[in-house]
Formats: sequence, structure tokens, C-alpha cells
Amino acid sequence: AKAHGRSAHCFFDESMIQAARERLEIEARLRSAMARGHLLLHYQPQLSVATGRIVGAEALLRWNDPEEGLISPARFIPVAETSGVIGPLGQWVMQEACRQGQAWRAAGLPAVRLAVNVSPRQFQLDDMAVCAAQALAASGLPAHCLELELTESVLAERPEEMRQVLQRLRELGVRIAVDDFGTGYSSLVHLKRFPIDVLKIDQGFMRDIPASGDDMAISATIIAMGRSLGLNVLAEGVETPEQLAFLRERGCDSYQGYLFSRPVPAEQFARLLQAQAEK
Ligand code: C2E
Ligand code: CA
Ligand code: CA
Ligand code: CA
Repeated sequence: AKAHGRSAHCFFDESMIQAARERLEIEARLRSAMARGHLLLHYQPQLSVATGRIVGAEALLRWNDPEEGLISPARFIPVAETSGVIGPLGQWVMQEACRQGQAWRAAGLPAVRLAVNVSPRQFQLDDMAVCAAQALAASGLPAHCLELELTESVLAERPEEMRQVLQRLRELGVRIAVDDFGTGYSSLVHLKRFPIDVLKIDQGFMRDIPASGDDMAISATIIAMGRSLGLNVLAEGVETPEQLAFLRERGCDSYQGYLFSRPVPAEQFARLLQAQAEK
């Protein structure tokens, strides 16, 4: 039994080393991908439930590797977060989203809001408010066209510092959204403590609507609570007309999901905006 235990121990160490090696490799490749311009943003339309018009876009990071093709952010964001890459990466995303948003405005397309995901680690490494202000100034995008998405766990990490940073962003005119709402903890305290504009209902609650009565009750409660607090409520992961009908009935403000569009390259998003302007 002892020998067995020992070999299991060795195996564990080996796999840890293997995992560390893989992380280092991904980190090095990510740095070079940034340098070589292999990172890009896709944009997923966000629509008004009431009017069906595009009101914004969530910018989602993509890594276009010459050998592997498109690599999902679920694979490399966690690695980036445990390394120094997340700082420059987050800065690049913010700048690129603002640049693109302003380019669409300059091209005469209807103005939409750009929602950018913000990582917890990034917040510790650089000042998010400064980074946002710089990206806005460099691009010329009006502050009210920028929205930052933070998860509840990010808010909970260092609440007092976070409150101050969010307050500065609010003063700039940038909007704050709570991403994956309902999946973190002590969410109701956050709503009181932080200057929040938008609740994004996590897609996990949409998935089984209308089959799951529980998920319908939870979503309806989030919508009602958001409304009575004067917040905007956006449902993500909307895939079926039934889900959209449910949101309309409950008075949800906006939605995004495969029902209308997957995240698409910038040119394709511009065409969606153009088509809407011509209607
Ligand atoms: P998220 O912020 O919760 O983004 C929503 C994810 O759901 C996206 O996956 C999107 O493509 C996907 N999605 C959208 N509509 C639907 C739908 O109708 N059904 C289903 N099943 N899925 C839908 P994606 O693009 O793979 O991104 C995964 C996660 O990676 C994001 O989750 C976010 O946490 C992170 N991420 C993406 N871009 C960035 C970034 O620029 N910075 C940071 N820090 N994180 C990012
Ligand atoms: Ca998000
Ligand atoms: Ca989300
Ligand atoms: Ca998520």
C-alpha cells in the first residue's frame, strides 16, 4: 500500500509539472500572439426586448492561431489571469473596443454601446478607471458608449477599493454591468454598495426556460428586482423565441444570444447595424 501511495504521489507531481509547463507555453504563445496581432474581438449584438433594435455589443476576445485556428477565451483567459499577460491584454481589449466603436460612429452607423469584460487580476495590476479614461481619450468614443462587465466575485474581492474605482468610472460616465448575475454570492449587498447600472442575468438561468419553473421564477425575480432598483436588466444566452417571449412578458430591458446572433467579426456586426439603419 505504501509503494502504491508513493507512486501516486509521484504521478501527482508529474502532472503538476506538466500543467505548469503547459501554462508557461500558453503564456509565451499568448504574448507573441499579442505582439503579432493574432488577437481580435468579436461582437455579439445586444438588443432591446421592446423594440428589437440593436442597442449595444459585447466585445469577446478571440485568438486566431495560424496553426490551431480560433482558440476560445475559456482556454486562455484563465492562464492570462494567473500571469502578467492579463494587464496588457485587458488594456488592449479596452482600447480596441473603443477604437472600433468610434470607427462605427465615424462611418455614420447608429451609435451603440460597447460592453467590455474586465478580469479580476487586471484590476489588481492596473487602474481600471485610468485605463478606461485613456482608451476613451485616445479613441474619441463618448464615455456613455462604454460599459464594463464585472462578475460578482470580482466585486467581492476588495470591496472598498472596488467601490472607489467604480465611483470614478461613474463620474467619467462609463456604465457598470454585473456579469453572470445570480451565480456569485452576497449579490444583494453589491447592489447597494456599488454604483451599478446593469444586471446581466446569467445564461444558466435562460437555458431551461420554459421547461424549468425554478429558472423562470429566478429570472422573473431578478428582472423585477432590477426594475424596482432602477437598473437595466439584460438576459444573456437567449436562444429561443419562447425565452424572448418570456422576457417580454416580464419586462426585461434587453437581451443577447444565439437567437439573434452569435458573436461575429467587426465587419459583420457593422453590416447588422447598417441593415437596421436602413429599416
Ligand atoms: P461571458 O462574459 O459570460 O460571455 C458570454 C459567453 O456566452 C460568450 O462565450 C458567448 O459567445 C457565449 N454566448 C453568447 N450567446 C450565447 C447563447 O445564446 N448560448 C450559449 N450557449 N452561449 C452564448 P465566449 O465568447 O466563448 O467567452 C467566454 C468567456 O470568456 C466570457 O464569458 C468571459 O468571461 C471571457 N472573456 C471573453 N472575452 C474576454 C475579454 O476580453 N476579457 C476577459 N477578461 N474575459 C473575456
Ligand atoms: Ca460578459
Ligand atoms: Ca456572462
Ligand atoms: Ca460566464
